[in-house]
Amino acid sequence: DFALASKELLRHRDEFMQKTYTFGAGSNGETAHSLNPFDPNDCVGHVHESSPSDIENALKQAELWDAPASERKQTLDRAAALFEENTAEIFALLCREAAKTVPDSLAELREAVDFLRYYGAQALSHTNPPVGTFTCISPWNFPLAIFTGQIAAALATGNAVLAKPAEDTPLIAAYAVDLLHKAGVPENVLQLIPGQGASVGAALVSDPRVDGVCFTGSTATALRIRSAMAENLAPGAPLIAETGGLNAMIIDSTALLEQAVTDVIASAFQSAGQRCSALRCVYVQEEVAERFTKMLTGAMDLLSLGNPSLLQTDIGPVINLAAQQKIQSYVAAARSEGRIIKELPAPSVGHFVAPVLISTPLGVKQMEEEIFGPVLHLATFKSGAIDEVLDAVNASGYGLTFGLHSRIDSRVAEVQEKLHVGNIYVNRNQIGAIVGSQPFGGEGLSGTGPKAGGPNYLARFTSHSAPI
Ligand code: ADP
Repeated sequence: DFALASKELLRHRDEFMQKTYTFGAGSNGETAHSLNPFDPNDCVGHVHESSPSDIENALKQAELWDAPASERKQTLDRAAALFEENTAEIFALLCREAAKTVPDSLAELREAVDFLRYYGAQALSHTNPPVGTFTCISPWNFPLAIFTGQIAAALATGNAVLAKPAEDTPLIAAYAVDLLHKAGVPENVLQLIPGQGASVGAALVSDPRVDGVCFTGSTATALRIRSAMAENLAPGAPLIAETGGLNAMIIDSTALLEQAVTDVIASAFQSAGQRCSALRCVYVQEEVAERFTKMLTGAMDLLSLGNPSLLQTDIGPVINLAAQQKIQSYVAAARSEGRIIKELPAPSVGHFVAPVLISTPLGVKQMEEEIFGPVLHLATFKSGAIDEVLDAVNASGYGLTFGLHSRIDSRVAEVQEKLHVGNIYVNRNQIGAIVGSQPFGGEGLSGTGPKAGGPNYLARFTSHSAPI
């Protein structure tokens, strides 16, 4: 029985809600505290931030994974099984360190496990040698799935990995690395190098002993990494980057509005909007705009904000105080311009930002910046003006996800042909990917390709020219 099973799981999870974690205990140097965004008094643990000599040692120790592909696959399969066996503790860590709700934690764990099994299996058909030492740099919004996916791809193909987790989520990363080591990945093949992006991250992408970089995060950081690599790394060193998005959805007059409302809510507000795939601007055809807006604001009222550990919670806090303040000041500017259509009340404790709906003219300027929170813009368009909308979407330069709610078949083909985006979602929510069957990745400012979780991804982690 699923309900009973999940209650049992949550009881088991709660055993880990008080535990204090340490990574790199006993080392000299800076120690960072990892805090809970819902309860800033809850210190999840302490992390030793890598010093220049730690980085030097890691680079010296780094070793390729000198085992046949079948053994690498079996090891990654064992890691997947260990992730599943430790679901309760992983849920506790995802909740405490990243404020993940229960459904978000479940999806995240599944994705991480799927990456391990998928890349392990894919590696069997890659006969090219590895690239060498890969630096993997990941963000806090999918601290398990993206972190594990990058590492699994680099490891499956036999590379050495230096993994730099995001500043806000080093302990979930340390936990995952521990399970990978327990599964049999050699310690010098996979090394965790926690620390600040500007120092530790920067060092790990500019050392000539690094042969390739896999990065997920902001577009600005990806551009910085690309120039550091161009200056310091061997020519042709691969950069595989997944970056931001300014994602839109069109709802035309033929859309099934009940479905569209449900999908807009999930696409814009799930995970407090902290997904690169999240919907930022919904374009609604004028004829249905009033009815749609009424239905959407009504549905927003039903959202439950609060403690991410509770099953009834839809939306938890954002990741930290800086993120909260940045989003709040953006919303305050829209408020002063009288553009707020609907804003929910936010809990006063924890780094909460209430979901907000903001009206915006077509071709929005404020969409130049990615607001990584539960902030949705609404624009209307006239019948016959879909091209203007598509031009505005293309003009942003980003091309990650796009949603379409329409029952006109030819419109689907038209949108697919005209838009330069990686993932288009039709008459459904605009969320995520399925490893193996629905790979994820963007175009333009949103990423380099190939898509993660797709059949071509691993090839970038192999090389014809590197010595075997
Ligand atoms: P976000 O807005 O998601 O935090 P960032 O791009 O700032 O996006 O961070 C993503 C990852 O990149 C984090 O692990 C961060 O520490 C790292 N990072 C930030 N700046 C640099 C840099 N100059 N070089 C390498 N890594 C960096």
